[in-house]
Amino acid sequence: MKCRICKKEAIVKLKHYNLPLCEEHFYEFFEKRVKKAIGKFGMFSNDDRILVAVSGGKDSMVVWYVLRKLGYEADGLFIRLGNGENIDKTQEMIKDFAKDIGGNLIVEDATRYLYGLSTFEATRVLRRSACSFCGMVKRYLMNKVAVEMGYDVLATGHNLDDEASQLLGNILHWQKGYVLRSWPVLEKTHEKFVKKVKPLVLNYEDDIKLYAEMRKIPFLKETCPFSIGATSKVYKKMLSVLESDQRGAMLSFYMGYIREKDDFFKKDEESVNLNSCEICGYPTTSKVCYFCRSREKLRERLGRKRGTIEG
Ligand SMILES: [Zn+2]
Ligand SMILES: [Zn+2]
Repeated sequence: MKCRICKKEAIVKLKHYNLPLCEEHFYEFFEKRVKKAIGKFGMFSNDDRILVAVSGGKDSMVVWYVLRKLGYEADGLFIRLGNGENIDKTQEMIKDFAKDIGGNLIVEDATRYLYGLSTFEATRVLRRSACSFCGMVKRYLMNKVAVEMGYDVLATGHNLDDEASQLLGNILHWQKGYVLRSWPVLEKTHEKFVKKVKPLVLNYEDDIKLYAEMRKIPFLKETCPFSIGATSKVYKKMLSVLESDQRGAMLSFYMGYIREKDDFFKKDEESVNLNSCEICGYPTTSKVCYFCRSREKLRERLGRKRGTIEG
């Protein structure tokens, strides 16, 4: 098996492209796709200060690594969703990685806002599903930190599989608002809303894993135990079945959306009116944002239970 580009011995065969490559050309191929996404969607320029949300999973570690490798000023943000040995270990791993790649690491502790509870403990008190609550808290705090620390852009590790499966789910339920917001860039539409970008949107999850392994980028192997029943996984599975029958199906499904979105949906319908939350000032479509409403409810519930809660 020869590298398609240089004809030297190939060491990987990218199944989604049926493409054999040597080590050097695999890195080049992979990084080019990241560059392409950044350029195609106007994600950021060399002058922008970028904050990367880093969970310790392969996607966020790889996106941070590649952005720094491409010469961008990119720092990392780790959000502690609870306390305990595993979270400390993850934080250590990311801290060491930050040193290796020369980026700053910011750590934000979500439990500060949840009366000392982890997001998981908070969902029990609130009787909400762990995944959606945890996701909401993460998104809120990522945005807040980026705004407060003056970053221009917040980058996340969402990959092609994530975006295609989310799009499929939204289309299956004809959730038009979500279909529109599946775009890989969310512009700044409120003074306290930082621009959001997904630089790995053109890279398959399998290739990201391969890249992390070959570059010896450390990452957490286990995914969140509470996401096992998540419906997004069903859509991912459906797409991978389709992909195994039709090579490139996932990419072409997603790129079709990129191409056709404006024709299907009139541009003026994109703007959702964002208000400022009456409590914290961050953007919301209601009067008080979901984060603040959750905190208030949490305080009430905990107050009933324990009687002594501050904040
Ligand atoms: Zn080669
Ligand atoms: Zn609020």
